[in-house]
Amino acid sequence: MRLTTILAAMAVLAATPANAQLCDGRRVPTSADGRVLGHLPYGDAAPDALVPVPSALSVNPCVLRREVLPDLQRLIEAAVRDPAAGGQVLALSCHRSITYQEAVFCREGRTDAAQRALSVAPPGHSEHATGFALDFAFRPRRNDCPDAEACVAATPAFRWLVKNAARYGFEMSFPAGNRQRVKWEPWHWRWVGASATTPGAARARALFADARVRYPAEPAVERDPVVVARVMPPPVYMGAIAPPECRKGKCKVAREKKR
Ligand SMILES: [Zn+2]
Repeated sequence: MRLTTILAAMAVLAATPANAQLCDGRRVPTSADGRVLGHLPYGDAAPDALVPVPSALSVNPCVLRREVLPDLQRLIEAAVRDPAAGGQVLALSCHRSITYQEAVFCREGRTDAAQRALSVAPPGHSEHATGFALDFAFRPRRNDCPDAEACVAATPAFRWLVKNAARYGFEMSFPAGNRQRVKWEPWHWRWVGASATTPGAARARALFADARVRYPAEPAVERDPVVVARVMPPPVYMGAIAPPECRKGKCKVAREKKR
């Protein structure tokens, strides 16, 4: 094939809006920046890059990329030592595989996908798949506030996290009123390293480069003066193989409730 033909074909492909396949074969359009229902695409972390989070640091057993653990441990220990935190910050939900995310997203298959996507990322489009993002729980609970609800923002431990998280390399991915039009998730934070030279930070910052430029976190870790754009986007999950636990609109999801 001649070069001009190849270039013409590439131009057509670039101009053609792609579709992402969701639960039960339903398709939704992918936006020009790769987002599906507002969420940017993320690939799954390699299993050997993930390590268990020590039980003292987590409400539920979970795994994260090993580079995140030192900062997570320092953050949680610092909150315990600081009376201003008034309690504990703990990991609640960590890495979630794309298959697991599909089960979470599809289990409420009868409701509108766009509505679900306000609070749950479609499979292949969750920061949790990278192993660099997690949901925090705050203890003690205040006024019976459930985990992963906006009311967690009223806890002293949350306010402590807002003031201190960036020192440990964490930033809030979906602040209130974000331009991404994803629901405010005060419990959801991604790790990018407190500085660019922190081990693992370069990888995390590359993965989240688009998000950090287009839809900045708040509070945010200071961005690098020079942002290196990602050359290739991660593969977009097409949902070609429905997991057995997610058929006929009914999905079984173990233990975790949502998000
Ligand atoms: Zn989350």
